[in-house]
Order: sequence, then structure tokens, then C-alpha cells
Amino acid sequence: MSFSAWLSELNRVLVVFVPCVILGLAIGYLQEFIMIGLVVYGIWTVTQMVTLKQWLEGGARPDDAPEYLGLADLHVSCIVDIQKEYMDRQDTLEEFVGQFNEMIAALPDAVVVLKVSGEIQSCNRAAHDLLQINPASDLHSRITQLFRDPSFNDYFYAGQYDEPLEVHGSEVGGKELSIRIIPFGQDRLLLIAQDLSQAARVYAMRRSFISNASHELRTPLTVILGYLETLSEHPTLPKECQIAVHSARLQAQRMKQLVEDLLALSRIESTASVAKESTVVPVPSVVMEVVKEVRLSPGVAAHDIQARIETDAGLKGDLREIESVVSNLVNNAVKHTEPGTDIQVIWRLGDSGSVQLTVSDTGQGIAPEHIDRLTERFYRVDAGRSREKGGTGLGLSIVKHVVERHEGQLKISSELGQGACFTCSFPAKRLSFNGS
Ligand code: ADP
Repeated sequence: MSFSAWLSELNRVLVVFVPCVILGLAIGYLQEFIMIGLVVYGIWTVTQMVTLKQWLEGGARPDDAPEYLGLADLHVSCIVDIQKEYMDRQDTLEEFVGQFNEMIAALPDAVVVLKVSGEIQSCNRAAHDLLQINPASDLHSRITQLFRDPSFNDYFYAGQYDEPLEVHGSEVGGKELSIRIIPFGQDRLLLIAQDLSQAARVYAMRRSFISNASHELRTPLTVILGYLETLSEHPTLPKECQIAVHSARLQAQRMKQLVEDLLALSRIESTASVAKESTVVPVPSVVMEVVKEVRLSPGVAAHDIQARIETDAGLKGDLREIESVVSNLVNNAVKHTEPGTDIQVIWRLGDSGSVQLTVSDTGQGIAPEHIDRLTERFYRVDAGRSREKGGTGLGLSIVKHVVERHEGQLKISSELGQGACFTCSFPAKRLSFNGS
């Protein structure tokens, strides 16, 4: 290419200067004709430069590249090569962006790109179905003005996006949405809203099935247990049957406890939280009552159970549920520790006006890898031992749900050989003094 550029330049020089030299020599005005040749060559060059400039200003499209520019052909061919490469890349990029946009548009989840101020930059079709944001007309509006759920507004302005927000109600057409906000780039937010209605419906069906099945099992079990109790106390029961009846009675009792725990769990799961203005639970007397009962139950004599009431505060909540928390934690401390273990139940004020129920023991403790899983349904460190002690594996699950329904938190701390400590902390707004 460069050789042909030089040739074309030489060709131009020859075309201009050869006639000038011949004419100059023939007529005897060589200098003048060379001057004329220089002027013509200059004009020609300037014309070519103007052509080059116009081409560059017109976007330097490879198809319209000017030809026969002499040495400037070198630059033109470089520019053409760069332009072709740039256009190829642009085509690839456009194809990629197109595919990406189609993919975002086809997503069943709503995807909205926002500025940190909440201004909508772009969104997909699902944003219209789930959040009522119109991709055509709502761009540059603030999301908080279009999606007016109060919990979303609080969530958005708090700026703490570690956990997703669950929204349900009329604002989202009765749907259950999980909204997650992910900061990206310098000042952009990606909002993803997922419709959980189907999963919630399946979960509700499963919950109702468990509740119905447990209800159905309860009555026949009570009858079986009644007969087994009568039978085991019968004076003429042959010796060889006594062990079998005793064992059947223990298993029936275990099943009954399981059914009761399942019913308790489905009952507390069916409502979101216990209203703050509900009755005041006199926790000090609940603690004393449960401790008294547990002390009297068989096989507990070897444990030393102490209750320490440091505040007479009550808790706004549900009496039955709080009783089940205290009872589960104290019974666990008895069930899962060796005889001779000290157990302490404390009701006291905590930090920032909160109130705490702590049940601690000096038993064998729990290995760290189990701690996070203890509140899962049916999770047991030692399933055999738990069953033997009449455990159902649902106790801590019930405790966690009840505590959360009262806007509290359950904290479990333990080390092997160092005992275990279960702390339920409730916020100050749940506290009540003198029944107020
Ligand atoms: P379970 O009916 O087996 O007691 P829970 O849900 O109440 O079921 O407890 C789950 C598991 O947590 C128990 O099986 C036991 O392994 C462990 N656990 C609970 N409380 C204690 C405790 N105080 N000390 C040691 N392990 C405990």
C-alpha cells in the first residue's frame, strides 16, 4: 500500500511537471513554467486535502474513502483499517447489549436501575407487572413516588440493603414480593423484586396440611394413650406384657408431644407477629411457675434449678407462647445435661432498655458447628439421646419463632464442656411496668 502511495504521488508530480518542463524548454521560459507547475501541484494537493477533510468530517466511513490522494492514501488506509475494526467491535457490542437487554426484559423478576436518589434509569417489563412502573413513561421519576409501600420507603431511605425486604399487601396487588437492592458502579442501585406468591402459597398449603394432619392424629392418640395408661396400671397384667405396654405408652407419649409441638409451630407460624398492644405477660410469675413445675417432674431431682428475677417488668405478648419459651428452654437444660448440673433462669433488664430471659446451664455444652442449626426443625445434636429423653427436635424452633413474633432475638452461646446459655432479648417497646 505504501509503495503504491509513493507511485501515485510520483505519478502526480510527473503529470504536472513533465509538460511544464517540456513546454518551458520549448518556449524558453523554463523557470516560469516550473513556477506554474508548482502552483498547479499546490492547488491539486490542497484540493485533495479538502477532500480528505470532508471525508473525515463526514464520519470517515470506509465505503466513501477518497482514492488517489497520493501520500495521504497512507493515512486514509490506516483510518479505514481502524474504522473497520471499530465498526466490527461496535457490531459485536450492539449484539451483546441487544441480547443482554432481551434477557433482562424476559426475566420474571422486576429489574430496575436507579440513581442513589431513587430516580429510575431503566427497568424491564416485569417491573410493570410487579411494581407498577411503566418502562416507557416512568423513567426519571422517583421510585418512592411510584411504589408507595411505607415499608419500602423506610427500607430505601435507611440505605441498609444487606437483607431483602418482604412486601405484601394491596400496594403489590396482594402479591408477596422479596425486594433486594444492590449498589453498583459509582452511584447506581440495582433493584430486583421477586414474586414469592407461588412459594408462599405452597408454604401455606404445607403448613395447613401439617396442622390438619396433626389435628386428625391428636384424638386417636389420646384414646390410645388412655387405654395404654389404664392397661399399664392393671393389677393382673402378665409380667411379659408389662414391658411391651410400658414401651408402647412411652412411644405414644412421644408421638403426642410431637403432635402438640407441630400444632404449636403451625399456630405461631400462621400469624406474622403478636400485636404490641396485646395482653401483658407477667414473666416473673411465669418463670417461677415453670421452674416449680420442672422441679417436680420425675428425674429432675438431681438438677439444681435456680430462678433469679431482677425486674418485675412484664412483656406485651401472648401468655401461652411465652410460657412455651420458658418451659422449652428449662426442660432442654434438664433433658440435655447430666444429673448434678446447675441451671439458672434469669429475667432482667438488658442494654438500651431491652429485657432478657436467660437460661444457662453448666452441662456438657454444644460444639460450635451445631449452634447455628439448633433452631432448624428436627435438628438434634444427638438424635438418639434426644428421643430417649422425649425430645421432638422442635423445641428451639418454637422458641425462635415465638421470640421473633415478639420482636425479640434468640442468642445461643456455648462451648463444649462449658455449658450452654440461651438468651431471649426483647426490645424496650415490648416492656410493661405495672401492667401499663
Ligand atoms: P429437642 O426436642 O431434641 O430438645 P430442641 O429443638 O429443643 O429439640 O433442641 C435441639 C437440640 O439442641 C437438642 O436435641 C440438643 O441436642 C440441643 N440442646 C438444646 N438445649 C441444650 C442444652 N441446654 N445443652 C445441650 N444441648 C442442648
